[in-house]
Amino acid sequence: MTLASVRGMKDILPPESARFTALEAAFRSHAGRFGFREVRTPVLERTELFARAVGESTDIVEKEMYTFTDRSGESLTARPEGTAPVVRALLSNRAATGEWPVRLYYIGPMFRHERPQKGRLRQFHQFGAELFGTDAPYADAEVIAFLHGFLRESGLGGVSLEINSLGDPSCRPAYNERLSAFLAAREGELCDDCRRRRDRNPLRALDCKSERCVKATADAPSVLDALCGPCREHFAAVEAALSLAGIPFARNSRMVRGLDYYRRTTFEFVIPGMGAQNTVAAGGRYDGLAELIGGKERVPAIGFAIGVERLLMLLGDGAGPEPAVDVYLATSGPSLLAEAFRWKLSLLGKGIRAEADYDGRSLKSQFRRADRSGAKVVVVLGEEEARRGAVVYRDMARGTQEEIPMDEAVRRLLRSEKEG
Ligand code: ATP
Ligand code: MG
Repeated sequence: MTLASVRGMKDILPPESARFTALEAAFRSHAGRFGFREVRTPVLERTELFARAVGESTDIVEKEMYTFTDRSGESLTARPEGTAPVVRALLSNRAATGEWPVRLYYIGPMFRHERPQKGRLRQFHQFGAELFGTDAPYADAEVIAFLHGFLRESGLGGVSLEINSLGDPSCRPAYNERLSAFLAAREGELCDDCRRRRDRNPLRALDCKSERCVKATADAPSVLDALCGPCREHFAAVEAALSLAGIPFARNSRMVRGLDYYRRTTFEFVIPGMGAQNTVAAGGRYDGLAELIGGKERVPAIGFAIGVERLLMLLGDGAGPEPAVDVYLATSGPSLLAEAFRWKLSLLGKGIRAEADYDGRSLKSQFRRADRSGAKVVVVLGEEEARRGAVVYRDMARGTQEEIPMDEAVRRLLRSEKEG
């Protein structure tokens, strides 16, 4: 019996791996253009980081984390998201990251013990970007424009941008109380989780995917109506900047996101009609997070994360490129395998994509393979030709074949490589 992989954790095989890599390259290039530099943080963090940053009463921390005690007795967690680790890394390496604003991006796997289904995995990947050190509404709009531009360039159509503001410590507590009171009046209609979290974290009910809660909270008070003056101004300025950037958006006052660290702006790029897995990318402002995890200074920040598997799924599965072959080395018999091996490595070293058969297939079968490989040239290593220091050089496009000296064959291959 073949051992199965862990439930909800996928192998990424060709040709999907090539699409994955291409998307990754596009993201790096896009990020570079916007002045973001890469940060790579460990997959494992102390559990406390997420408990504090993401929030004790979120779904992620309550029931989705891969948490274990390591051999030194420390509680570790496979990161369920990328922002808290990046903030931790920024704070512990503050001097190395330079003057504000600091722009960082990351690419990597995330782990959440959710019910696996289409667009929902237990190991999935995110591309993320974080802009630190400014409150300016333009920063919010710039980060959203970065994401909008990337999704567009990647070829994704039909996405819409939804935005919201969750207020800050001066207006959010009052809203939480109103919402909590609203929920109390509908206690019986809520799911167990939302009932339990009503006092401590009423916002969670607006993010709950259970149908009962969606229905029960349909006319919940709007967080946008509860914003204080500065938060209202900030939100209006973000909207104005998005309009300046020519990015269409819609307000969604129910969008609260699944992590407690968000303040003020939150946003999602959604594909209508994709069910509960309709969010491709999402993010928001998290001005209080640095202090929450022990930073001495307040570091205003905004960022996003893209669900890579969801994006790939939406882009459709156009076949990725097969590895291209320039020259196929055929051998007339097993005595020439060593020669084929040596030629192959030497050609690869010169930048020529060579392929050879090591398994002693018939010449006919090797020609079939050469054909399928798309090689423009087949070089046949034959015993007699080898004694004369020659090979048979077959031009697949022209359909010509001739015996030429070995070094002449190499020269021709190098020349045709340069001509592309
Ligand atoms: P959702 O509402 O779909 O559960 P989320 O609010 O938990 O998403 P974030 O934590 O903001 O999502 O993560 C950002 C993005 O990462 C999501 O928009 C989604 O595209 C992707 N993502 C989140 N969880 C998963 C998962 N379990 N499997 C695959 N992709 C995921
Ligand atoms: Mg989730």
